[in-house]
Amino acid sequence: MSPQEIMDRASEIVPTVSMATVYRTIRSLEELGEIVPVELPGEPPRYEMAGKDHHHHFMCESCGKAFEVDACPGNLSHMTPDGFRLTRHDITLYGTCKACNS
Ligand SMILES: [Zn+2]
Ligand SMILES: [Zn+2]
Repeated sequence: MSPQEIMDRASEIVPTVSMATVYRTIRSLEELGEIVPVELPGEPPRYEMAGKDHHHHFMCESCGKAFEVDACPGNLSHMTPDGFRLTRHDITLYGTCKACNS
């Protein structure tokens, strides 16, 4: 979730919550290792719970939300140039989400 999404969710529970509180909470949860930043190309960092299994993200180009994708194409070393060694990959899918499609 982006800080703004966290803010929207939090203000449903605590109407007086401020953006400063959200950023402060994000920082302390990150220091505790409870959450990790999700870096999507050209996007401000989002955050998710730490310790999830390997997964990818789907970025809705209509509403701008990011969704988790459990599927993975697996070992992509067949795409790696000769003499290179692949250590990890990061895949972002783009399109429109279910809510935006209906
Ligand atoms: Zn959408
Ligand atoms: Zn993968």
